[in-house]
Amino acid sequence: MLDRVALVTGASRGIGRAIALHLAAAGHPVAVNYRSRSDAADEVVATISAGGGRATAVAADVGDADAVTEMVDEIGETLGSISILVNNAGITDDDLLLRMKPGAWDRVIQTNLSSAYLCSRAVLRGMLKARWGRIINITSVSGLSGNPGQANYAAAKAGLVGLTKSVAKEVGSRGITANAVAPGFIETDMTDQLGEAVRESALPAIAVGRFGTPEEVASAVGYLASEAAGYVTGQVLVVDGGLAF
Ligand code: NAP
Repeated sequence: MLDRVALVTGASRGIGRAIALHLAAAGHPVAVNYRSRSDAADEVVATISAGGGRATAVAADVGDADAVTEMVDEIGETLGSISILVNNAGITDDDLLLRMKPGAWDRVIQTNLSSAYLCSRAVLRGMLKARWGRIINITSVSGLSGNPGQANYAAAKAGLVGLTKSVAKEVGSRGITANAVAPGFIETDMTDQLGEAVRESALPAIAVGRFGTPEEVASAVGYLASEAAGYVTGQVLVVDGGLAF
């Protein structure tokens, strides 16, 4: 069935944008969530429409419980009940733990981890009713290995792995799968912030010798969202070009 509605959080840019385009190309109507950059989200919707797909942009801070409820209700009215949820929205706010302010800790946990709880809870009832669903959480290799300066981000991303595995066990018998995708270094605005020296020093640790593209993450998500992946659940698919960590 190709008309299953997808919600991709943080889909105005980077990996989320590529996931939205990939799912739309596979025939899914797509809700393109964003927080602040409506022009970027509108561009994603226009690109999908130009390719003959269906999409709508929907603004919501996915760390805000009321905003998530409103967003899911709005999508229900415009596109229909959500069958595929990709919890992709994420931020970094790096610092060494000794210097990390409570605000930076809370913001990163709320946006990367609590958002996935809120969005999953908001869409699960519809998936249970339909006896079909796909929840895909975008974690990170930082959450699997830890990373100095990213205690908040790594904790949030490790938390996503536990959330994924628990949800998989709760709803597996109802035709709903929950999996995570863990990207390594991917070319987006997030890694642009790293600076040339950090980027250069990361390259020798990557087996394929380059950063990945958002599209390479999107195709892994596309597989997990597909009918073909119905017997894959509770897994973390690492898409990192063979990063040694
Ligand atoms: P990005 O280019 O910085 O884009 C972030 C996206 O998230 C934007 O669409 C942004 O919306 C949205 N967003 C941020 N906070 C939000 C909020 N509170 N509510 C709703 N949307 C929000 O990031 P990216 O590199 O594509 O990363 C996407 C995901 O992959 C993140 O979860 C990130 O942690 C993960 N990841 C990335 C890499 C990498 O190398 N890039 C590696 C591992 C994991 P606006 O445009 O409106 O601000």
